[in-house]
Amino acid sequence: MKKQFISAIVSILAAAFMMTGCGSTADSVKDTGAAADSSQAQVTTVSTAESSQAETTTTAKQPAQAVTTTQAQQKPSQTTAQTTTAATAKKAENRSASAKTGRISDSYKKYKELKLSGEEKDKITTTDFCYIESDKYVLLMEKDLVIPGDLKKNFDAIINSLEKYTGLSYCPDSYDYTKTIDFARSKYGFNPWEGMDYGKKIPIELIVDRKDEGLISCACNQFVTLELNAMYTDELWNSVPSYRDNTSWKRYSFIDYHSVAHELTHAITERSASLTKIMAEGSADYYAKKVLGDLIKVKGMTKDMKRSLEVSQMLKWDLPEKITAANAEKVFLRDYSEISSADRGAEYRLGSEFCDYLAKTHGKDFMKRYMDAIKADPQLRNESRPNEGYRKEIMQKHIGLFKKLFGEDVFTKFGRDYSKYELKVKL
Ligand SMILES: [Zn+2]
Repeated sequence: MKKQFISAIVSILAAAFMMTGCGSTADSVKDTGAAADSSQAQVTTVSTAESSQAETTTTAKQPAQAVTTTQAQQKPSQTTAQTTTAATAKKAENRSASAKTGRISDSYKKYKELKLSGEEKDKITTTDFCYIESDKYVLLMEKDLVIPGDLKKNFDAIINSLEKYTGLSYCPDSYDYTKTIDFARSKYGFNPWEGMDYGKKIPIELIVDRKDEGLISCACNQFVTLELNAMYTDELWNSVPSYRDNTSWKRYSFIDYHSVAHELTHAITERSASLTKIMAEGSADYYAKKVLGDLIKVKGMTKDMKRSLEVSQMLKWDLPEKITAANAEKVFLRDYSEISSADRGAEYRLGSEFCDYLAKTHGKDFMKRYMDAIKADPQLRNESRPNEGYRKEIMQKHIGLFKKLFGEDVFTKFGRDYSKYELKVKL
């Protein structure tokens, strides 16, 4: 792939999880190296490949609890129990070792908390692990990144806008904040943030793919990972031969705030409840566009905003079949779960158009109503979506929720009027 062109785009695709990001899940993690250029078709193919791979890679990046969930779905219960027990024993062993050696558990305190000026022109180059703590998130960074002075301000604005549009809180009471968060260990071999108490804040890590492993942005209920190569230092970029010598794609010259908003949408919705694939990716793209519109109103059309807007408007995947009154419900019921690689991306487009339809026909609070209905159903509330999608019984319940909330004819009307709904950023 080549990621550059795609990286931002992929992140758009990426997140969901349960993946798709995620669901407990996480969106994506790697790209496969498929080729990509600037044509839309190519982008689609690449994104697809990345998303697909992401699902298989996700497990490695997920916290222990999420991994256990996945294993429970795929392996006999005894194996799962053994795995869980082993993990627990290992943890206890580590704690014990720490106690014996006196190693401090708040090792992150040796890293610097960055204070930004608020001005985009003021740049800070990171030379070690460091972090920024805000009201609603903790931004965790590594070395070789160039951080613009307005990054914290923009992230703050994105989360505030997402809460406003979705009607959801970034820190719902129903979410279990006691889960172990140890996502950095798989990447660095140790956890630089060990001992950090995130409270209800969202942990967001800004990563550097310094070996060109194809790392891309992803998100789940427990954390957000952002790979934004526009923030890499020139020195880092030029030290990686495949970056420096690649002529078919280039490094992003702007911070893709649409992708940032897409991933943060996943984190916020997944903290409330797990969604279908179409609704997870669709809502993430839908709200990212709305948030980007807000950001542009406040900041003006800066280069970052202009290019983020262009990328968001450029993404329009072909659907594997035309949506009609006769087939719309069946498509939502299948949730594109049959799509493993080719055509991946359909859920992003159809889902965001469905969100646009629900907002226009049933009010802007459609997402909160849908999420509240999921949370009110004990079976749906506790169901994590596997990478291959929910089983049919669960999907039927989701379809039933939509009909109950928005009318028996919600899908036939959407299918009938499908061509009317096309999401654009409103400025
Ligand atoms: Zn996504």
